[in-house]
Amino acid sequence: VLYEVYPEALRRRSVSGKVPLVVKRKSLRIVVTGGAGFVGSHLVDRLIGRGDSVVVVDNFFTGRKENLMHHFGDPRFELIRHDVVEPLLLEVDQIYHLACPASPVHYKFNPVKTIKTNVVGTLNMLGLAKRVGARFLLTSTSEVYGDPLQHPQVETYWGNVNPIGVRSCYDEGKRTAETLTMDYHRGHGIEVRIARIFNTYGPRMCIDDGRVVSNFVAQALRKEPLTVYGDGKQTRSFQYVSDLGLMRLMEGDHVGPFNLGNPGEFTMLELAEVVQETIDPNAKIEFRPNTEDDPHKRKPDISKAKQLLGWEPTVSLRKGLPLMVSDFRQRIFGDHKAGGA
Ligand code: NAD
Ligand code: UDP
Ligand code: UDP
Repeated sequence: VLYEVYPEALRRRSVSGKVPLVVKRKSLRIVVTGGAGFVGSHLVDRLIGRGDSVVVVDNFFTGRKENLMHHFGDPRFELIRHDVVEPLLLEVDQIYHLACPASPVHYKFNPVKTIKTNVVGTLNMLGLAKRVGARFLLTSTSEVYGDPLQHPQVETYWGNVNPIGVRSCYDEGKRTAETLTMDYHRGHGIEVRIARIFNTYGPRMCIDDGRVVSNFVAQALRKEPLTVYGDGKQTRSFQYVSDLGLMRLMEGDHVGPFNLGNPGEFTMLELAEVVQETIDPNAKIEFRPNTEDDPHKRKPDISKAKQLLGWEPTVSLRKGLPLMVSDFRQRIFGDHKAGGA
């Protein structure tokens, strides 16, 4: 039951003699795996802000306590150092399962660990959901489409993924995590939600995590050349973190999968131009060899999320980038006047 009636509301009668309809949302106990990371910590802020109790489970591989420090001391917040590859006993109403490195540099660092996190970690969290009857949300990825042969990508597209490549620990790992999620749903009646997140950026990204937006922003601020991989004509679609509709998906009635991303599509050279406009028009561009199996293009078709969740991103790249820049400037130079989120 998500809603309960205020006890006072039952006592207070309106002039007409009817009980006024004052309802209050019941506070939930929610676990966020990977909650010390970039996306997870923003989600935790919103859940706590809504009045829920949050348990963050994180092994701090890429996450940082600094992302959550503002909640320390709040009785509704708890932080557990735990690796999701190991079983975990908790009593919760909902599970947001984010634990997994997201930057190619990080997920390729220890590929076997990445696939274990995606497969065994997801299995454990589904086992937990089954034991306590919790609703489970998986943060899958646009990478499940691989190097897509359909453009833009619709959820019904099965993708074009290399099963034995250097990205497979991540993209095949997430595909298996989706499979497990659907099998627990069909086989055990677990309530599940699947989000396929497209490239997302914003404050609190690791400064040197190797993803393109964080690289370009940090490089421009440090007066280093922007490193464009390959010919820079490959495309991505960039979503500002506050647009990501994970809570809307969790609270809605639909399993998914749903593409959650901003349909604005940019080549890496165009992204470099936006970074130049935003930070330093004189920033140089330096070409580097591209990484293996790099997807050539990526752009979400978000019709399904628009129609069924009433969700749509609102922050364009040119509006979102400056919000991230102030956070990066502060963390790189310790400039407190710069502000930041
Ligand atoms: P991130 O690296 O900032 O966060 C991942 C978090 O998971 C970190 O705090 C890390 O320490 C933790 N973690 C990793 N392995 C773990 C393990 N075995 N046990 C416990 N904790 C573990 O990345 P992010 O960008 O915040 O991504 C969060 C989720 O969203 C990931 O599942 C990622 O695959 C998904 N996603 C993100 C994007 C994006 O562009 N940011 C795109 C698609 C999907
Ligand atoms: N699990 C967990 N926490 C729980 C319940 C289960 O970590 O509260 C783990 C459990 O150790 C197992 C996995 O989740 O490895 C799958 O659990 P399930 O009960 O579905 O399968 P089984 O234990 O029967 O293989
Ligand atoms: N890229 C780049 N310069 C960088 C880092 C990445 O040109 O410094 C390119 C990369 O080759 C890819 C795109 O940017 O084509 C997005 O890479 P990222 O690692 O951010 O995310 P991906 O979508 O590949 O997971």
